[in-house]
Amino acid sequence: MKTLRARIEPSTMALAAIVLGTIVVGILAYAVIANIRTDARLANNTRLDLQTMLVLVVDEETGVRGFAATGSRLFLDPYRAANRRFPPTLASLNVSAQNPNLTSIQDDLEGLRSSHALWEADVATPIVNGTTPADSDKRLKDGKVLMDRVRSHINEARDEVEAVANRLSLEVQQAIIVSILAIVLMTIALGIVAVRFEHARLREEQRLREQVDERNAALERSNQSLREFAYVASHDLQEPLRTIASFTELLQKRYGGRLDADADEFIGFVVDGAKRMQQLIDDVLEYSRVSTHGKPLAPVDLEAVARRSVANLRASIEERGAEVTVGSLPHVMGDEIQLGQLLQNLVGNALKYNRSARPRVDVTARREGRDWRIAVSDNGIGIAPEYHERIFRIFSRLHTRGEYGGTGIGLAICKRIVDRHGGRMTVDSEEGKGASFAFSLAGTEETTWQSPAT
Ligand code: ADP
Repeated sequence: MKTLRARIEPSTMALAAIVLGTIVVGILAYAVIANIRTDARLANNTRLDLQTMLVLVVDEETGVRGFAATGSRLFLDPYRAANRRFPPTLASLNVSAQNPNLTSIQDDLEGLRSSHALWEADVATPIVNGTTPADSDKRLKDGKVLMDRVRSHINEARDEVEAVANRLSLEVQQAIIVSILAIVLMTIALGIVAVRFEHARLREEQRLREQVDERNAALERSNQSLREFAYVASHDLQEPLRTIASFTELLQKRYGGRLDADADEFIGFVVDGAKRMQQLIDDVLEYSRVSTHGKPLAPVDLEAVARRSVANLRASIEERGAEVTVGSLPHVMGDEIQLGQLLQNLVGNALKYNRSARPRVDVTARREGRDWRIAVSDNGIGIAPEYHERIFRIFSRLHTRGEYGGTGIGLAICKRIVDRHGGRMTVDSEEGKGASFAFSLAGTEETTWQSPAT
């Protein structure tokens, strides 16, 4: 059978791989898009530089032409300004042309540079310096041819750059679309794996729940047969034991004093042992009856039950001169007979394990969340904390039979009754400082939300 780990691990790995893949694709897409964007920005700047270059060339040419036509040096100002800006603009274009996307404009830039240099040397400089007649038609005609060449290089380069810019912006769009598609696909894959993962988890949970239910049922069956065994065994043992006890008593009565002293003593031991065994078997029977003979839980007036239990103990209360108070107790869900037995055991112990001149026992209740906590507190001999757990075990006693009578079953029965009611039993005590035994019980519908009747 596959374990949860074996089922979940591949899904977890798939999830991790997809998440990692999405992150990697995201980073790659971001890097690619950022890269293309930088190139596109460079192409745009180059386009602007070429535009500027065109303006500069026109300014230069019209400046020289104006001067040639009028002889006014005023026309040379725009020529000079443009002429000064020409080299840095060309240098900037040359740098841009190093970009792998723009190498195709290098030839045009070279053509532009050489035609312009020629115009500068053969046309502009001689005219501006006056070394040749300003209105020399031939020179101006040559100049126009050269400047047309310069302009056509600029325009070709611009077309080239424009094509590159368009291509790059298309690439950016494609890269964005591809990344979005990839991320959408990854998200869908993530969703599918997450759903499968969740299904596997739910299936596994269901399987575990079924396993737990199965085991609980098996445990309950085995507990039930153990309880039945304890009950049947102790019940069936009673009969032969009764025979032994009555015949040994008969033996004692008839032959006591007629055999020797040893025989009398031995018969005494047998009678005593048989009686103790009877008592123990009765106790085991009572203990196992808690679960085999319990009644279904129903609303119970706990205060009335407690008062009845106290009334049953009237003889020992009077004998000890004790004061027993029953506070306001709520209606709870329980088995009335068992709750009576529980309270009677606790109040009985409170009177028994008490050496004060005026024993006092209080039965009280207080709210604890949706439950009630019932306490039986006394001013008796108390119990050292190290024994707090042990006293609830079957046949566990802290005193000899000489000190206090009993078989050590009372508190084990109390705990079993409280367990059967779904509650929790505790003791709060210190040696010599009295004891307080408490247990929780569920209230009835009404008392869960109201205070106990006063
Ligand atoms: P039993 O009374 O037959 O000995 P229990 O199961 O009722 O058996 O009690 C177990 C032990 O717990 C007792 O032997 C006693 O030492 C201790 N005990 C029970 N109730 C009290 C109490 N109210 N005060 C002090 N000790 C107690």
